[in-house]
Amino acid sequence: MQTIRQQIMSLLKNYEMNAREISKALGIREKTVYEHLEHIRYSIKPQKKKLMIHPFHCLVCDYIFKDRKRLSRPGRCPQCKQGHIEAATFKIVNIGDIGVKA
Ligand SMILES: [Zn+2]
Repeated sequence: MQTIRQQIMSLLKNYEMNAREISKALGIREKTVYEHLEHIRYSIKPQKKKLMIHPFHCLVCDYIFKDRKRLSRPGRCPQCKQGHIEAATFKIVNIGDIGVKA
């Protein structure tokens, strides 16, 4: 029996997913997914793995939240002040694979 955190890691080693997709796949709340991701992000470093983040972006003005420290969904865009934000997606990759730096 795997823990929720292990199940999230198994999913993200195989698929690029957003938090909503993960929450649906595992039957947990989206907020809980982000909490686990925050932990996974650091805990996988010794395994030479990295949580790759395809960042949130604004559907109105294309602003990209690339310097965002937190993983959770932003409320609205700092540039155009709209709330139409496309979800970030996450994947666990091996450091050393093509284009992946620590
Ligand atoms: Zn915007």
